Formats: sequence, C-alpha cells, structure tokens
Amino acid sequence: MVSRVIPVEPFDLVIFGGTGDLARRKILPGLHRRFLAGQVTAEARIIGAARSQMDDAGYRKMVRAAIHEFGAPEDQDKAGIDAFLEILRYVPIDARGENGWQELAAHVRPGLVHAYYFSVGPGLFGDLAERLHSHGIADENSRIVVEKPFGHDLESARALNATLAEHFRECQIYRIDHYLGKETVQNLMAVRFANILFEPLWNAQYVDHIQITVAVTVGVGGRGAYYDKSGAMRDMVQNHLMQLLCLIAMEPPSRFDPDAVRDEKLKVIRALEPVDPHHIVRGQYAASGEEPGYREDVGDPRSLTESFIALRCHISNWRWAGTPFYLRTGKKLKARSSEIAVVFKDAPHAIFGQDAGQHRNILSIQLQPNEGMMLDVTIKEPGPGGMRLIDVPLDMTFAEALGEEIEDVPDAYERLIMDVIRGNQTLFMRGDEVEAAWAWTDPIIEGWEARGDVPKPYDVGSTGPEDALMMLHRDGRRWREIK
Ligand code: NAP
Repeated sequence: MVSRVIPVEPFDLVIFGGTGDLARRKILPGLHRRFLAGQVTAEARIIGAARSQMDDAGYRKMVRAAIHEFGAPEDQDKAGIDAFLEILRYVPIDARGENGWQELAAHVRPGLVHAYYFSVGPGLFGDLAERLHSHGIADENSRIVVEKPFGHDLESARALNATLAEHFRECQIYRIDHYLGKETVQNLMAVRFANILFEPLWNAQYVDHIQITVAVTVGVGGRGAYYDKSGAMRDMVQNHLMQLLCLIAMEPPSRFDPDAVRDEKLKVIRALEPVDPHHIVRGQYAASGEEPGYREDVGDPRSLTESFIALRCHISNWRWAGTPFYLRTGKKLKARSSEIAVVFKDAPHAIFGQDAGQHRNILSIQLQPNEGMMLDVTIKEPGPGGMRLIDVPLDMTFAEALGEEIEDVPDAYERLIMDVIRGNQTLFMRGDEVEAAWAWTDPIIEGWEARGDVPKPYDVGSTGPEDALMMLHRDGRRWREIK
C-alpha cells in the first residue's frame, strides 16, 4: 500500500556505480517503490553505468534480484517489477576511460532533467564530472548527486568542492546525507516552526541539554580498510550527527527554501566552540570469546581509530549559551537506535514534593529502527493513591489520527532522489556547510592525534566505554538508554 503522490516530470537518471552495494540495496529498490507509487512514470529512464560488462537484459536481471533481496515484501509483484525494469538501461563505462560515453549520450534525452548519481568512491567524482562535460552530456538541466564521504578533512573537501565547481554550479550539486531524508527529521522542523508551543521553550533558558545518539549493533563488516582511515568522528559525527544538531539548534529560517534553511544551519556550525579534550571519549570494541574486536576486524593490532565517540559541545550564540549538546555514536553497541532527545529543565518550583530531575519533559525524536516522536509529560498517576506523579509518553507520531497516510512513508533515499528530480536542494548539504563542518572537526582530530590518545576498550553489546557514562555523571546527567 503506497500513499498518493504527484508524478514527477519524465527524467533521465544515470547511476554511476549502478552495480554497487548502495545502488542494489537502496537506490534501485527505492526507485522501484516510487515507480509503484506512480511518482516515477514509465516515461522516466534509469541508466546503470559501471565497468562490468553486461547488456540491458543482464542489468535488469541483476536489478530484479536486488528488488527481491532488498525491496519491501509488498513490492514483489511480478508485473510491477517487469514494468519498472522496462525503464532501465545499462552502459559499461569506466569513469577513468573514454569508452562508452557516446553510448550513454545517446540514452540521455535532450530537454529533460538529467540527474547523475555518483554512487562510486569519492576518488572518481572528479573524473566523472570532467567526462560528463568533455563528452557533452552535462548541461543546464543536469544535476549531480554525490555520496558521503565528502572529503577526509577540510583540505580534501575544499579540493573536491573546487573540482566539482569547475564543471557544475552549486545549484546543480546535491550532496546526500540520508539522515536528512528521514520523515521524522522533517517533522522535527514542522513541529518546531509550525507550532507556537515549542519555539518559546527552545533555548538555553528552558532546555537543560540535548543528546544525539546513533548506535548500531554491527561492526565495521567488510568496510574495515576504509573505516580504519576514517573512524566514528569522520564517518558519523562530521556529517550525520552534525546535520541533526543543526536542525535542532538552528534559528527559524525566514522561508522554507533551500538557501534560507542552509544559511541557518551554517550559522550553527560556525558557532560551535572548539571541544575541550576532557569532553571527548573515544572507544574501540574489544574482542570477547569467539567474537573479534575492532583491531582484528580492521586487521591492525595497533589501530588507534575509534569505533565509538562521545563528546560534549557548545554553541556560542544567544539561544544556546550554556546548554550542552552531547553527541554519541558507536558500533557493536547494545541496540540499533538513533535518537535525538531534548531534555527540558525542571519546573521552577516543585509543589508536589518531587525531587529535582525526577520528572522532566523530554522530547524524543527517534530515527531508527522506527521513526517517531514522543513527548514525555508528567501527570498524576490515576487512582486514589494521592498526588503521585508519573511520566507518560505523548505519541506525537499521531498514527491513529493519520491512519494509512503514514503506512507508507518513503525511505530517506526515495525522498531525496525525488527531491533531486524536482530540483529541491533543501535537504542536501551545501559546499560551505560541509567545509565548515570539517573546519570544526579537523582540530578535534588533530588534538587527539597530537596527544597520542588511545581509544578505551568497550564490550560488544554495551553502551560504550565507562568513561562516556562518567562524562555525563560528572555533569550530573545521564545518557538516555540505548534500546
Ligand atoms: P561498491 O559496492 O564498492 O560499488 C562501487 C560501484 O562503483 C560498483 O558499481 C563498481 O562497479 C563501480 N565502479 C568502481 N570503479 C569504477 C570506475 N572506475 N568506473 C565506473 N564505475 C566504477 O560501493 P557502494 O557501497 O555501492 O558505495 C558507493 C558510494 O556510496 C561510495 O562513495 C560509498 O562511500 C557511498 N556510500 C555507500 C553506502 C552503502 O550503504 N553502501 C552508504 C553511504 C555512502 P564496477 O566494479 O563494475 O565498475
């Protein structure tokens, strides 16, 4: 069951890396789902491109298998898949070679939106941008979509921005952060900016602190070599957690338009204070029994890369002066859970004799595994037992009120790809945002490298190193449970 949608105009989408993991797991099943919903029509054309030699039939076979493996169970109808496969083509191309481009050019129809999805390693972005131009396939209607990681530090991000800017204008570049495509993340903006209730309380005077947690149960998997050069700070904090932080902390934009929103996010990043080393805890999951530890997983017994990081940061502006933001992310933790929690201060005067901090309003925005929004409110426990207080969650997902409207919420990738086709950049990172984020993270990383900091071991299935718990205890606070 898919929700009502307005079809997008016919378009050509070329997926470079169309045989890769991301294309098979997310992009193609997502496009199939939008096709079933009627948003992508039979006039659209999707062209896979990679070095592997195969023809259209071979590619369609591969995509059918990908939809079977990664698509939703309700999307497996054969007729629907057959119809979707009809709009697929495949062209063998090496991003670093000159063959295949004319064949690709023949597939790209003049006058339509052309989107080029760079679902390949970042080392190929420049080659692709250059060849799209030299072979005359890129024009005013072209858009490019680039995946993370966008650079490894400020210098490399600047170089990458400069390379892309040689061939495309900023309004043609869509830097994906799939966290921004989540329904709840956008709902957070609606809740903040379309209601009068929250905004007056959304500041240091009423908010005690904010926690952002992205916990996963998996380890580095087959990405060990890449991950070990990156670590949790570069892989997660610099992009996903900072983007969430921006949406929580930004000022209301004057309009909901891409540059107005991104200007406000940029101001947040630029207002971030350098992080005190005492407010950073890095960890590595340790081996236990048969289960390999981080160092075994990446094949380096002396690796100093973190698979976990917790840090406290501050935003120096009028709204947030004095309110700590605690960020935490790690692998092989207790549960897969992503949550933003806005923890409000105690009521100024306790008339029911409750202890400080015992009952607090907490707005919790859950992004994974299920999306949702809850507001903990304190009420009287029903019954004759006197004035006893309890906290109950007010479910702001409003599943009952919205009924089937929310049964089929598009996956983040589906939404973001449709935004690319519609030409809406609001949920994509601008070049200056990415650079500002690196400008904040680089000195933190350089700091621990200079200090020779060694990550603390933590047990698989735990909530991270003990020191991360202590960091909050020292502040008289507690991490939210990872569940
Ligand atoms: P992958 O599984 O290794 O796929 C890479 C793709 O690029 C394959 O289709 C490969 O096909 C193609 N390719 C490699 N070299 C090429 C060349 N010289 N010319 C043309 N095509 C080439 O990687 P992935 O996991 O899909 O990731 C793709 C990008 O998305 C990476 O930047 C990654 O960091 C990012 N990303 C991935 C995920 C994810 O969940 N997988 C999540 C976030 C971001 P051939 O070998 O046939 O050429």
